[in-house]
Amino acid sequence: MTEPVGTSGLVCNEPLLWERSHPGRRAFSLPRRDVPEAPLPEGLVGDVPDLPELSELDVVRHFTRLSQWNVGVDTVMYPLGSCTMKYNPKLHDRLAGLAGLADAHPLLPARFAQGALQLLWELEAYLAEITGMDAVSLQPAAGAQGEFTGLMLIEAYHRKQGQRRTRIIVPDTAHGTNPASASRCGFHPVTVRSNARGELTPDAVAAVMDEEVAGIMLTNPNTLGLFEEHIRTIAAVVHAKGGQVYCDGANLNALMGVVRLGDIGVDVMHVNLHKTFSTPHGGGGPGAGPVCVKRHLEPFLPVPRVVRDGPADNPFRLDQQRPDSIGKVHAFYGNFGVLVRAYAYIRSMGAEGLKRASQLAVLNANYLKESLRDVLHLPYDRPCMHECVFTDRQQRAHKVTTLDMAKRLIDLGFHPPTVYFPLVVNGALMIEPTETESKDTLDAFVAAVRQLAAEAETDPETLLRAPEKPVATRLDEVTAARRPRLRG
Ligand SMILES: *Cc1c(COP(=O)(O)O)cnc(C)c1O
Repeated sequence: MTEPVGTSGLVCNEPLLWERSHPGRRAFSLPRRDVPEAPLPEGLVGDVPDLPELSELDVVRHFTRLSQWNVGVDTVMYPLGSCTMKYNPKLHDRLAGLAGLADAHPLLPARFAQGALQLLWELEAYLAEITGMDAVSLQPAAGAQGEFTGLMLIEAYHRKQGQRRTRIIVPDTAHGTNPASASRCGFHPVTVRSNARGELTPDAVAAVMDEEVAGIMLTNPNTLGLFEEHIRTIAAVVHAKGGQVYCDGANLNALMGVVRLGDIGVDVMHVNLHKTFSTPHGGGGPGAGPVCVKRHLEPFLPVPRVVRDGPADNPFRLDQQRPDSIGKVHAFYGNFGVLVRAYAYIRSMGAEGLKRASQLAVLNANYLKESLRDVLHLPYDRPCMHECVFTDRQQRAHKVTTLDMAKRLIDLGFHPPTVYFPLVVNGALMIEPTETESKDTLDAFVAAVRQLAAEAETDPETLLRAPEKPVATRLDEVTAARRPRLRG
């Protein structure tokens, strides 16, 4: 095949700054001293910190080189299933950096922050419209925190009705954060198995649904990249026994403008702005997991709420007077910079643009699925949503596993996809191309996977040794996890 464009392998050779230190080297120069030299006071001498001594150029090159080690979506295709690592237009970063927004102090009185409040108020309205819900809180800082917040709302709702319900139904295809959030909130998660088509059935839910169950947490599309087709009936089963339906909408990239979960039985859901709505993520940067609810859950939303009930020249304010609120879940109003990016993204895309993004995300995933189905085993042979899941079943005959294929992709110029997730699929390779990759890039990715699939048959050794191009090749992952070397 032709050489891939971009980074192949990672060439990492950068000593620590301390190893490059030269006594007396400086990154600044001050005018010659015109006063007599004075010794440091007693006692202070021992406290001189151990800092490396370097020139400005040493420092600039060190950090520039480190920045170049970073493989990200700005350098190569990053097909990380379930995480929507798509390209985020730089325009939105620029807008979030505008002084009036970036420098606005969160304690400004409302009358000096009308623009910021209007932005939050409108963003809530857009998210409500996109999800088909009635009210939104922008406070949660991540998807998992959105789940936790949503579950607290469910708990508060039942408590208000004088009920204590103890269990939450979580299908085996839900995201791993779902059962974790449920436990964290004091619920006991009850696992329900998906069927051979990778979907949850109303019967399976009815079998465990009773008046002790507070609700269900569905991930839709689920972690197999499949749409839960019975969601309406499942919601009816849960509602019939007084339960609430939570939807993990982290992967709204598949649904925007196409399906509104509020229209098909969901009471509360979160969306990940740092996946779908133009905040770069990975490496643990700031995110936002707004929680969207139906009217009956609105009284319980976190405080403060942004409301518009003032005079025309000063219409917005923050409302703290919500007696049923669960309280605060984040300082101030959440990660404001992320919210600005989402607002800018929604406004620049428009309703049609958002719908088109979802359609293309789904089209691209299905294109990869169809282009690779003869070389990789497809456990669920159905149209997928924004991501598709393969396994290493065909390659295992040659002793080549998912891990070997992922490592080989590094040599071939691609970030590996998600591996061994979801857990319900043995040897899973989960691929999400997103809508922002061109057909050229998708074809190059297909060619790389086809090449490694051919190598698995003719030359498995190459895969077992991969990656060979990076300075750090096949790592001993067990030792790395058990005895991490965190210095130098
Ligand atoms: C990413 C993801 C989450 C968790 O989101 P965080 O922001 O990482 O906490 C939850 N559910 C699904 C389906 C996800 O893809």
